[in-house]
This record gives sequence, C-alpha cells and structure tokens, in this order.
Amino acid sequence: MSADASSAGEHKPDCPICGDAPGHHWLWRDERLRIIDARDADHPAFLRVIWNAHVREMTDLTDADRQHLMEVLWQVERAVREIAQPDKINLGSLGNMVPHLHWHVIARWPDDAHFPGSVWSAKQREGAARPRIPAALWRATLLARLGLPAVAVTPELVTAYEHTAYAADLPGGPATLRIGTPEPLLEHWLTEHGQTRWAVISAANPWSSRCEKDANHAAHTALRALLVQRGLPVCEAMNWPDDGVAGWTEPALMCAGLSPEEALRIGAAFGQNAVLCGEAGESTQIMWCVRQRDR
Ligand SMILES: [Zn+2]
Repeated sequence: MSADASSAGEHKPDCPICGDAPGHHWLWRDERLRIIDARDADHPAFLRVIWNAHVREMTDLTDADRQHLMEVLWQVERAVREIAQPDKINLGSLGNMVPHLHWHVIARWPDDAHFPGSVWSAKQREGAARPRIPAALWRATLLARLGLPAVAVTPELVTAYEHTAYAADLPGGPATLRIGTPEPLLEHWLTEHGQTRWAVISAANPWSSRCEKDANHAAHTALRALLVQRGLPVCEAMNWPDDGVAGWTEPALMCAGLSPEEALRIGAAFGQNAVLCGEAGESTQIMWCVRQRDR
C-alpha cells in the first residue's frame, strides 16, 4: 500500500509544521514521516517524530501507517536511551497549539531544569549542563536502527551532482574529479599511500539545505576527525557547481582507503544525499546515501 494513497496527502499552507522547509535539523526521514532534533537550551536530547502529511489524530491514520509510526517511535526512544543514557524518557503527543500529528521523545534527568514536571511546565532550577549531541551521532544511530533515509531524488538533483567539479588539494597538485571520468593525479596519490580506492565526502549543507558557515565548519571538522582517527590519508577538497549558483561551493574531504559502503554510511551520517568514490585508474562514481523514491 502506498502511504500517499492512505493517510497522507494533505498539506496545509498555514500550518507551521507543514510549512517547515526541508532542513538541516532533519535526522532521518522516509515517505511518511521525519525525525528532527528538537533540542533546546535545557533539554539536549530531545527528538521529534513528525508525520509528513497534515493529520490531526493517531486514529486518523490507517492501521499500517499507525504501526509504522509506532515502530519508528520505539526505535527513536531506544536511540535516545542508548546515546543520552537518561534517567527517564518522556513521550508526548499533544498538538494543542499545532494540531499536526507529532511525537516528542525527551531524555529526562532529576537535575534537569523542569524535573519532575514536564518540559513545558514552570522551570524548577537551573538545569545541570549537558553537552549537545552531534547530529552525526544521532543520524548514525538512527541509520543503524532504521536503514537509509528515503528522499525524493529529483532529476534536478542528479543533474546538480553531474554538473559539479570536485577539486581535491592533493600534495602533488590540484586534481579535478568529474563523475564518469578518471583522474590520473589521484592514482599517484593512492599509490604513494599503498591504497587503491578513494572517496570524496562532504559534511556541509545536510540534505542539500543551506546551513550557516559555522555549522558547516563544525561538521567538516567532525568529519575530518573521524577520518583521521581511522588512520586514513585525507586531503581538503571542494565541490564546485558548474553554474556557480550564488556560491554553492562546499568544503569536502578526499580520503583514501574507504570502501564505497563505508563512504556511503559516513556520508549518510553527515546528512549527505550522495558521496563520490572510485578505484585507481577507474572513473569517478556517485553513490547515493539515501533510498531514492518518487516525488
Ligand atoms: Zn500541518
């Protein structure tokens, strides 16, 4: 059964949830629902599961859709417990202010700002400080539990990847990669490091949704740390769209020694639609980090 033919379909232009643009705060999504990071200053481990279509109540869903939502909700609860190790989980579906079906999954501690009240109650104290959880860690955990996210890969998106040059700052000089063509300079670099395969991964602008420079820089630094920590040779790279639309260049990293499967999973953890990869002497390939679906 297609989700779009059952509970889904409606989109209300005046609803703030229907109107939220595809954002970098999305951690996972499929045809029917999306998971976002809803953390605030007092509650660092706070995720929200949102039904994509404008549906008011759980019983407005078909049985199959409701079951899907519940299965995802339990996996999100497990992910929050695993990562945040809270004292208690709060699950909530209210929607009095915005009657568009969504569930809150909130990690709670006795020393948080509102405990034992709900997170919407009067503040009890200055809550204990807890570090924010990186989006890449949430995404990697949700990926392991729910599989690859599903997105609409439009012909425009495919064209955008095809019409981009991927420049890598190799020690021997700059190399320019394009999908479907080999790059001899790359072979040289791989041989020097005793490697036969490579990947270019970006951490910038998750889901092709424009992020602020600082957020992109932080994600790039985290990606670099992850690759360097594995002991892999890494070079700075840059994605340059041919049409150069309004500075849509993105920092990326060229890395030797990753299998396409590893590159795909790392790309997915950083919210990328795709990564590039290849083997010495072979043409550059694109690997999609998402399950492609129709629009
Ligand atoms: Zn709505």
